Amino acid sequence: MRKLSFGSKGFAKRPNCPSSITLLSYIEATVSPLLRQRVGAHVASCDFCGAEMQLLKNYAPIDEGYTPPPPPALIHLLGKIFVSGSASSNRNRQVA
Ligand SMILES: [Zn+2]
Repeated sequence: MRKLSFGSKGFAKRPNCPSSITLLSYIEATVSPLLRQRVGAHVASCDFCGAEMQLLKNYAPIDEGYTPPPPPALIHLLGKIFVSGSASSNRNRQVA
């Protein structure tokens, strides 16, 4: 049986690979020029980090200042109607 492999070293993060946080900082250009040079050189020679870099570029984590968009106007209107409908106590008195 043939074993699936990605090169002789294997497709995995190695001890000398930069962390995901470092790669993300590299993408966001918040690393020092020296680190930027090191990470750039590493990514160019490491298949795994190159792939991770692509992933982080395309699917960057949501920043902390993110606020979800407001719900559609129709949902808001339905919510208002629902709340005002349940607030009326006339029906409840008749039942009880
Ligand atoms: Zn690497």
